[in-house]
Amino acid sequence: MSSPVWHPFTQHGLGEAIPQIASASGAWLHCADGRRLLDGISSWWVITHGHCEPRIAAAIAAQAGQLDQMIFAGYTHPQAEQLARSLVVLAPVGLDHVFFSDSGSTAVEVALKMALGHWHNRGQARHQILVLEHSYHGDTIGAMSVGARSVFNRAYEPLLFDVATVPFPAAGKEQGTLDALEALCAAPEKPAAFIVEPLVLGAGGMLAYTAEMLRAMREVCAQHDVLFIADEVMTGWGRTGTLFACEQAGITPDILCLAKGLTGGAVPLAATLASAAIFESHRSDERARMFFHSSSFTANPICCAAANANVAIWREEDVPGRIATLGAALDAGLADLAAHPRLHNGRRIGGIAAIDLRVSDAGYLSDVAPRLRAHALAAGLLLRPLGNTIYLMPPYCTTPAEIAEAVAIIDNAVDALA
Ligand code: PLP
Repeated sequence: MSSPVWHPFTQHGLGEAIPQIASASGAWLHCADGRRLLDGISSWWVITHGHCEPRIAAAIAAQAGQLDQMIFAGYTHPQAEQLARSLVVLAPVGLDHVFFSDSGSTAVEVALKMALGHWHNRGQARHQILVLEHSYHGDTIGAMSVGARSVFNRAYEPLLFDVATVPFPAAGKEQGTLDALEALCAAPEKPAAFIVEPLVLGAGGMLAYTAEMLRAMREVCAQHDVLFIADEVMTGWGRTGTLFACEQAGITPDILCLAKGLTGGAVPLAATLASAAIFESHRSDERARMFFHSSSFTANPICCAAANANVAIWREEDVPGRIATLGAALDAGLADLAAHPRLHNGRRIGGIAAIDLRVSDAGYLSDVAPRLRAHALAAGLLLRPLGNTIYLMPPYCTTPAEIAEAVAIIDNAVDALA
């Protein structure tokens, strides 16, 4: 009997193999049929330290037997309190309030609602959101609205709200980005907020830009009193080499979105951090000004316990050192791949390495990515290219030898495309 499971971003009509994963450890996934797969993409960018990290697994097990779930509207628990205090200390200075939710998309929805609520409660009709070209912020309606329009969201276009797009700050084109942002911020229709993926746009194709540009864009927004939302759902928890990408630009956004690696990737949890000004514009003796958002699993204690264990690992172990070692191995791999005539534009930031394939059709729907994916799968590597961009974003425990193995598989996969 065929499976009733409907998979995300999967075309079931193509009959592609759907491997069953039975267990995982470190950088490896173990298939039910006995094969093993090197997790080249940290299971969709979530696993940071490694699969089934013992400290995180133990924290989850202990919490599951003590307090599993509880309503968070007007009630609290020690794991959430501890985590919120830690996040305020770890995040850029000035983000003093933490709102929990359960995925990257909801962290972004919460951020957008906070921004709009902030202006609404101050009696200002500011609704326009500025976005960066090629961005991705999730798949719920609000998150899609602030992301690039593509085949991903064509069917839902009538429901998506209008945004103003700022050109991506590609090398040599930075001034154009700043001029466009300045013009939009200064326009009579004052924008509510500008949302960006700091330093690297993930799903847009691992497109990197400089810390100087991140800082400059933040400054333009500050000058015009436009809220700056940093979506660190992908970049957070070390992916760009530092705990948060914003650190590299020395900036504090007004709102910071975290998810994926917040729990080390083991269980779903998200947090949206906000400045005191945004919290204060919601705090009042009028109930009508409260922040109208929740979900059943807000600040689930088991997930918060996992996140506290993750924070302890960051505090007690040399995670940046591990990412630096991984980065050096990725550089060596990129140097090898750059020798391939069909590959160019190698780039790395922290624990993310990407390189582009020279193809005539680089679109998401071209069969290049699925063919590379299938070849890698057969050779024992979990890979998921984005159009013609091949990337590795492995867990931080991945060894240089394992990276070399992944690189050899990619090299062969590109050869096999012929
Ligand atoms: N924001 C960014 C920058 C992302 O990369 C993603 C997911 O890849 C999201 C938001 C959405 O996160 P989730 O898939 O957990 O909803």
